[in-house]
Amino acid sequence: MKISHYINGQLVEPSSDAYLDNIEPATGKVYSQVADGDARDVDRAVAAAEAAFERWSKMPAAARSGILMKIADLIDARADELARAESIDNGKPISLARTLDIPRAAKNLRHFATAILHTHTETHVTDGVALNYTLRQPRGVCGLISPWNLPLYLLTWKVAPALAFGNTAIAKPSEITPMTAFLFSQICIDAGLPPGVLNIVHGLGAKVGAAITAHPKITTISFTGGTVTGREVAKTCAPMFKKVALEMGGKNPTIVFADADMEKVVAGSVQAAFANSGQVCLCGSRVFVERSIYDEFVRRFAEAASRLRVGDPLEPDTQQGAMVSRAQLEKTMYYVDLARQEGGRILCGGERPKAVNERCRDGYFYLPTVITDLGVSCRVNREEIFGPVATIIPFDDEAQVVEYANATDYGLAASVWTQNLPRAHRLAEQIQSGTVWINCWLVRDLRVPFGGMKQSGLGREGGEEAMRFFTEPKNVCVGT
Ligand code: NAD
Repeated sequence: MKISHYINGQLVEPSSDAYLDNIEPATGKVYSQVADGDARDVDRAVAAAEAAFERWSKMPAAARSGILMKIADLIDARADELARAESIDNGKPISLARTLDIPRAAKNLRHFATAILHTHTETHVTDGVALNYTLRQPRGVCGLISPWNLPLYLLTWKVAPALAFGNTAIAKPSEITPMTAFLFSQICIDAGLPPGVLNIVHGLGAKVGAAITAHPKITTISFTGGTVTGREVAKTCAPMFKKVALEMGGKNPTIVFADADMEKVVAGSVQAAFANSGQVCLCGSRVFVERSIYDEFVRRFAEAASRLRVGDPLEPDTQQGAMVSRAQLEKTMYYVDLARQEGGRILCGGERPKAVNERCRDGYFYLPTVITDLGVSCRVNREEIFGPVATIIPFDDEAQVVEYANATDYGLAASVWTQNLPRAHRLAEQIQSGTVWINCWLVRDLRVPFGGMKQSGLGREGGEEAMRFFTEPKNVCVGT
């Protein structure tokens, strides 16, 4: 099967006529081909997006909303096909694709499609001499670059607000997981999205992604991916004064106080550590536990982690599928070796499973791995692994755990487990991260600001932040 670009309302071949192999992570085998796009395809897409902008941006909000709602309905109608495609493409359990990724993609569309029916802009009266109002206008052609871990979820998290607020866009899905974006192109065609409003160009980051960030007619870049890539994107965009939002890596702390509900915190923190094989930017990979309950917590956490069912992602009861690629598997193995060298004790996992099933014999599987006895400042505890690896570290008091939590260059998310609400609020203030969950993890309300501090991000997405990002505020001052 060939995955082609979606440009100017049509599925089209790449200018190069070349395709890249697309591998199913659970089997390690090529199962489709994805367009090997380049700057020429980006040029075609920008021309289409520019031509579509005038009509799309002037279309009444209710009409834009109606088309985006139709897209959401078609995602729901094709949810089974999309979930299966995502599971094959990404290696994640089909149950996760069904319950998280695909429903959330539809929600992203609905959230912004309805938001534009309700948003308002500001007015300011200046001492009886003038009335100011803020005109929010779409910014034009936006570049939307997304990663492989939540392919359709994160693609639509950008596409939905960009289009809802009247922009046109060039989206670039990860070359590692292009399939759901391809199916999404078909959905956009079927929903009647006017040609050129959304264009999806596939291919390598160094070619297609770089061409998008460097394109002079693309004024706005929303990027989600690794911090190293984000730095490249920022470097290209800075001299051109593009408006940029960067959502990048994380090394998120889970903080467990002795008064937390043990059942709930073990279940919640294991889920936070190992969801999608630890390949969620928000995963809590460093677990800090108050010393008085450390031994019991470690025992229960390791037991629960080793009980997770690792298996064929297409089996309905699989809890842990394959890692997305050989590179990601090797990165995980590298860090587990490093943990051993740094003096870590592996309580469970630390290797690949012996057998998953015949179909998945050559897949990229790795067991959920729990490590103790590592210092807070070692590399394993500071660098993003993005695999099924959690470390557990004891702490003595509030001040110490805040210091531990903040001891990385990242600042994306944290979760704090305690019954002591004043303490939870104190920690929330002091932890350097864009999100702090208290007694929960991955609860996402699409109205709240989303993003990271430090090297996890620049700017925010979500809710009104997305409106601010994807529109240009113009002050109109009327003398009275
Ligand atoms: P990545 O940085 O390798 O790739 C992300 C996207 O950027 C891909 O589409 C890729 O093709 C493209 N790209 C690569 N080089 C480029 C370049 N030079 N110019 C422009 N685009 C380029 O990231 P990944 O491996 O796909 O995703 C994993 C990373 O994403 C992890 O670090 C994870 O924490 C992060 N992530 C962050 C969030 C968040 O919301 N903060 C969400 C999900 C994933």
